[in-house]
Formats: sequence, structure tokens, C-alpha cells
Amino acid sequence: MIRLLEVTKTYGTGTSALSDISLSIDKGEFVFIVGPSGSGKTTLLRLLIRDMTPTRGTITLNNVDIGKLSNKKVPQLRKQIGVVFQDLKMLMDRTIYENILLPLEMAGMDHKEAEQKVHKILTQVGIEEHMEKFPIQLSGGELQRAAIARALVFSPEILLADEPTGNLDNTTSWEIVKLLQDINKLGTTVIMATHNLEVVNSLDKRVVELEKGKMTRDTKKGPSTSSGQDVKETKHVKKPEEKEDKKDLEKKPEVEEKDSSINLPAGRQDSEQGKHKQ
Ligand code: ADP
Repeated sequence: MIRLLEVTKTYGTGTSALSDISLSIDKGEFVFIVGPSGSGKTTLLRLLIRDMTPTRGTITLNNVDIGKLSNKKVPQLRKQIGVVFQDLKMLMDRTIYENILLPLEMAGMDHKEAEQKVHKILTQVGIEEHMEKFPIQLSGGELQRAAIARALVFSPEILLADEPTGNLDNTTSWEIVKLLQDINKLGTTVIMATHNLEVVNSLDKRVVELEKGKMTRDTKKGPSTSSGQDVKETKHVKKPEEKEDKKDLEKKPEVEEKDSSINLPAGRQDSEQGKHKQ
């Protein structure tokens, strides 16, 4: 489904954010992308949604080279890949309901159909009762659920989540991970970038580890990874249902400032950026 072949990304500043990454992710997988701050996790996610193109190498989604997509086909790609950004990118002057309705309206969906879809997704993520509130009136966990709901509006094949537990307490973090697992069980491929080693070590999921832009681990079962890197198993601690009490999670390291000018939620056009007031 997703294939990265020898992907390298060097920013204009000369920073080599990813080097020579080869990786295949199949439909229906749940993959953690781990690694310290600055290891290239966000860069990888941005490349997947064609927020930018690789310096070298190719990325294909269902055999389509996304680096070669024309700009007018990028919105179509972003319907296939829903994204939950680190900073969530909710429109602060719109209600949760409006935040989720907007991409559907912009895509030209019939109003009644769009409304039904929004209600269905808000129920799925468990925040229907908060839909008339503004983002500032929600808790961190509820807001994360709202951002997940918005990422799901086009029923994407793939959901990318960048540090979705980064600012949440332990219990809420597990609830969000449970929600992502439920979404995955319904068939959506989930790729979650995280520092949260307790979550990663407690779940028996594939783990791709980055260090200084290089892939240092891929626990995908099988004789070898597509990159030819060693395959090591993730240390299994215990599954969440086995957990009795949850310890404090790792604190989120300081988030680097990024060029967010083109980090738009799936379905939002660049022209919408100006409406985002905070
Ligand atoms: P992570 O998500 O793992 O923290 P990033 O992908 O954000 O890592 O960053 C990888 C490297 O690329 C870091 O050295 C970071 O400083 C650099 N970087 C990230 N975004 C940009 C950018 N827009 N311009 C220049 N360098 C960047």
C-alpha cells in the first residue's frame, strides 16, 4: 500500500532529516514510528501527505508515486490519508461541529449528507455531546478526539497521528490509543508517531524506529524488512487490558518550531489557512 524506496529528505537549511529510508506498510497495519525529538518522524509524515517531496527516492501509495502528483491531485491524496497534526490545527472561531463539517462542505458534499456524516463520526469518537462547543472549551483528550474526527471525515484508508498523546495525562493517553486501535480494527491503516514508550512497549504492534534520520529498527514480522535492516522484536511488556494501574507516561519533549504554512488538515485547501484565528 505505502512503499518508501530509499527516501532521503534534506531541508533547504542543509539538515538531513531522513536518509535512505525504505519501508513498506500494508493495508490494515498499525505502525508506531518512534525515535527521539529531531529523528525525522514528522518529516516522514509530511512526506506521506505530500506536504513536501523527498530530495531523493520515491514514495508510492497504491502504486502511485506521490512525489510526482500534480498539485491539483494533492487534495485527493489527502482524502485518502487523514492526518492528526501535533498542534491539531482546529479553527478556534468555529465549533467542533463546524470544524468537522467544513472540509466536507469544501469538498462539495450535499449538506444533509455532510451533517449525517459529522454526527456519525462525532459519535464514533465519543464527543457528540460536545459538538456545539468551541475548541477552547474542550479538554485535551476531547480536542484530540475532535482532531481525529476531522481526520476521518473522508473515510481515509490511512490515518496518520503525530504525537497524539503528547499533551495528555496517562489515562487519557490510553483512551486515545484505544480509539486509534478501534479505528484500525475497522480497517483503517494507522501510523502513529510517538515518544510514548509505555504505550509502544505495551502493545504488540509494529515499531519503526528512527534515529538521526536513519531507520534503526523495524519489528515487522518476517525474514527481513524491505530495507534489509535487522528485524528485532519489540520488547513486550503488557497489553493495556492487562494493565491494572497506569504509570506516568514519558513527558513530551519540547516540540520544535516547524514551518506549518502548508500543514493543512486533510480536505482543507490552502486558501482556508487564513480563517484560522487563535
Ligand atoms: P521529529 O518529528 O522526530 O522530532 P522532525 O522530522 O521534526 O523530527 O525533524 C527532523 C530534523 O529536521 C530535525 O533536525 C529538525 O530540526 C529538522 N527540520 C524539521 N523541519 C524542518 C524545516 N521545516 N526546516 C528545516 N529543518 C527542519
